Amino acid sequence: MTCISTRAIVLRKIEYGDADLIITLFSSDQGKLTVIAKGAKKSRKRFSGVLELFSTLNIVTRESRGRGLPILQEASLIYPFVNIRSGIEKTAYASYWSEIVNVWMVDGQKQPGLYSLLESCLDALDQGHMTPDILSVFFQIQFMKLCGFGPTLFHCTACCQDMMETQSPYMAVDIARGGILCHNCQPKSFSCQNLSKGTIKLLQWMEKADAVRAARLRPTPCSIHEGLDFLESFVPHHLGKQLHSLTFLRQLRAVSLNRHVC
Ligand SMILES: [Zn+2]
Repeated sequence: MTCISTRAIVLRKIEYGDADLIITLFSSDQGKLTVIAKGAKKSRKRFSGVLELFSTLNIVTRESRGRGLPILQEASLIYPFVNIRSGIEKTAYASYWSEIVNVWMVDGQKQPGLYSLLESCLDALDQGHMTPDILSVFFQIQFMKLCGFGPTLFHCTACCQDMMETQSPYMAVDIARGGILCHNCQPKSFSCQNLSKGTIKLLQWMEKADAVRAARLRPTPCSIHEGLDFLESFVPHHLGKQLHSLTFLRQLRAVSLNRHVC
C-alpha cells in the first residue's frame, strides 16, 4: 500500500460525518492533495490539534483500501502561523491566497515554485514583514507569473507601444486581453479600469522582486489601492471563477473604511 510522506500547507478543511475531516493540502513535492483525517473532528488528540488552516505540516498519508480518499496517518507541525489566525484581516488575506491556489491547482500536479511562494507569503504575513495589502500585491503578481498568465505591463497589448513612450499618465486595462492599452487603442466607448504609470511601475517591479526586496518597498496608498483593484479583477477572471474569500475581503475593507469615515 503506497504511503506518501511530505511537507504541506492546509488550504481547506470540511467536516465529514460525525467524526472525520476532509482536508485539502498543498504539498511541496506532490502538489494538491485531498485526504480524509479519520477521527479528527471527534478527537483533537488524534492529530494533536495541528490541522489548522494555513499551518505548514509534515504529513504521512496512505491509500485507502477501496476507491476512497487517501487517509491521513500522521501530521506534525512545522509552522503554526498562529498570528494569521488570530487576526481577521490576516485570516482574510490568507484565505484569499489559499482559495486562489486551491482553484488553480489540480490534484497531484506538482508546482514547487508556487508552494514556495505561498509558504513564504504566509510566513511574512504571520511575522508582519509586510503589510497584508502590499503582500497581496506581491503574491498575486508572482502567482500569475509562475502560472504563465501574468499581465502585459511593459507595452500596449494591442499595438505593442512601449508604456514609457506614451504621454498619458494613465493607461486603460483590458482584463480579457490580459494587459494594458495605450490611449490610441482604448475604445472610446469603453468604460474601464485605469492604472497610473506609478502603479504599473510598482507591478513591474513586484513581478521581478523577491520577498526580501519587496519588503523594503514603500508604495503610496494610491498605488496599493489601484494595484489591488486591478489584480483582484484580473486573477479571478483568468481563473474563471468568483472567489468567496474575495467577497469577504472586500466586505471587511468596506467595514474598515466606514469606521474611518465615521
Ligand atoms: Zn496601443
